[in-house]
Amino acid sequence: MVVHHSREDLATLQSEIVARLQQAGASVVGFADLSPLPERATGGLKSAISVGIALNPKVVAGLAAGPTTRYHAEYDRVNGALAQVTALAADMLRERRFVATRGPATVRTADGGRDTTPLPHKTVATRAGLGWIGHCALLVTPAFGPALRISSVLTDAPLTHAVPVERSRCGTCQRCVDACPAGAVRGRLWTAGIPRDQIYDAAACRKKASELAAAQGIEETICGICIFACPWTQRYLRRSGVAPRVSR
Ligand code: SF4
Ligand code: SF4
Repeated sequence: MVVHHSREDLATLQSEIVARLQQAGASVVGFADLSPLPERATGGLKSAISVGIALNPKVVAGLAAGPTTRYHAEYDRVNGALAQVTALAADMLRERRFVATRGPATVRTADGGRDTTPLPHKTVATRAGLGWIGHCALLVTPAFGPALRISSVLTDAPLTHAVPVERSRCGTCQRCVDACPAGAVRGRLWTAGIPRDQIYDAAACRKKASELAAAQGIEETICGICIFACPWTQRYLRRSGVAPRVSR
C-alpha cells in the first residue's frame, strides 16, 4: 500500500526525529541525500539519517598515549547507545510506513585493515553535512572533532537533505600524521569519493591499534591517539572544561 505524506507531514516528522533522538542521547543528527550513490551501496534507498554520539570528554582526555580500559568501556557504551538511537529512528519511520534499515553489512578488508562497508557511516555523515573526513580517515565534526561514534539509518522517506560536505577542513594541520605511531596517516587532504587507501593505511592502523589495546589487556582494535591529537577534539575538551592528560 502506498501512503502519501504531505511536505508539512514530512517536515514535522524530521523535526520530531531530531528532537526524539537528541532526547535519547544523540549529539548530532543530519539528513543525507543518497540518490547520487550507486544502488549496490544504498539498496535503492535515497535518504538516510546520520546520528553521532560524542565520547565522554573525560575519557578522551586520557588517550594521548593510546587506548585505556575506560576508553574501551566508553566505546562499548556509545555503541550500545547508538544502537538504541538508530532503532528509535527506524521505528519512527516504520510507524509512518516507510522502509528503514541499518544499510549493507560491514565486511573485513582483504588487507586486514579497519572494517569497511559498501556505504560507510562516515560517508553518510558527510552527505548529511555533519563534518568531513580528516587525514586520519575519521569523520571530523566542528563540535566534537573525531571524538564521536556514528551510525545511520537508510530509508525511502523523501526527506529534506542537508548540503553535503565534499572537502576537508583539515587545512595545513598535520597533528594526526605526526601523532600516529603506525605511520598510517598519509597527510593528504580528503575530497568526496577519494579511495580510503590514498589518505590512510588501514592495515598498519589495525596492527598498531591491536598491539596498543592488547598491551592494556583490551581485546578490541581501538587506539584513540589520532582522536586525541586533533585540534577540533582539543577544542571540545576545553569547551567541556576538561584538561588533557598526557600520561595514563
Ligand atoms: S587509530 Fe592509532 S594507529 Fe590508527 S591511524 Fe589513528 S593514531 Fe594511527
Ligand atoms: S588532527 Fe588535523 S589533520 Fe588530523 S583530522 Fe584533525 S584537523 Fe585533520
